[in-house]
Amino acid sequence: METISLIVPCYNEQESIQLFFETVEKVFHQMNAETKQYQPDYLFINDGSSDDTIKIIRELHKAHPDNVHFISFSRNFGKEAAMAAGLRNAKGDYVALMDVDLQDPPELLPEMLHIINTEPYDCVGCIQTSRKQNPIRAFLSASFYKVIDSLSDVKIKPNVRDYRLMTRRYVQAVNELTEYNRFSKGIFSWVGFQTKYIKYQGRERAAGETHWSMFQLFEYSIEGIVDFSDAPLRIATFVGGFSCFLAMIGILIVVVRALFFGDAVAGWPSLVSIILLMGGIQLFCLGIVGKYIGKIYLEAKHRPQYIIEEQE
Ligand code: UDP
Ligand code: MG
Repeated sequence: METISLIVPCYNEQESIQLFFETVEKVFHQMNAETKQYQPDYLFINDGSSDDTIKIIRELHKAHPDNVHFISFSRNFGKEAAMAAGLRNAKGDYVALMDVDLQDPPELLPEMLHIINTEPYDCVGCIQTSRKQNPIRAFLSASFYKVIDSLSDVKIKPNVRDYRLMTRRYVQAVNELTEYNRFSKGIFSWVGFQTKYIKYQGRERAAGETHWSMFQLFEYSIEGIVDFSDAPLRIATFVGGFSCFLAMIGILIVVVRALFFGDAVAGWPSLVSIILLMGGIQLFCLGIVGKYIGKIYLEAKHRPQYIIEEQE
């Protein structure tokens, strides 16, 4: 019998946990009746919830001490940290990452297990087709994938969920990346191995509501680009160099004009605009450089990604 570790990050999810557990149990019962025997091993990560999430998880652990385990953070460290903690502590032969809100359908698990068992893949990921989304959000998300695809060496498929099933050696490879700034979609792509993607129809949350505001998603995309690409730095150098070149030509023209045609005190508005433009470009480039320095600063401190308060 093989065990499947299910890593489930939970942040204020008191309504969803029980439902999630029952649904997944049902899927495993059905699967075990039909095919090979698999044993689910739940690993809930309580990401500093302020509601009764941890209470519900503790009760679940008490009722099923053998295959329900949990890690509880001392505060909210974010889903990336929760996934990292889960991947480091999962012991199963296979490891799956799942959201607790049932937006990652557990019914796909049998198919994913079948693929990873019979075909030469180390990871099975999920791509979500149409999900009812606000059009601005959908547009921004599509643009993000385009930008990261052209700027970065790692390839990230659009609309890939964090929902994935991985082999032991794949998880080991992921765990070897110990960076503080984690952008897991990039990390999963960076480690390589063969990944198969299956598609499914997106769906609404079973209960509760999403924790991501549009601004947070935007920030997350910037992180993703900065973590996996140095293209912005190169663009900054190029833009800076190009405007220096233009400025030199401008100076030359002004000097030549002054020598041959005399100088009139005209054109100061254009001068001011050029100064402003230059200042703007400099600040822009400084900002990009600063973003990377900020990352280096955080990495250099070697802080842990999360603090565990309780673990069973
Ligand atoms: N989550 C978490 N920490 C956070 C925010 C979210 O562990 O700071 C968990 C959350 O409980 C859920 C999963 O990450 O299981 C996905 O969150 P959500 O459903 O809000 O995101 P969406 O599905 O809208 O992308
Ligand atoms: Mg969700």
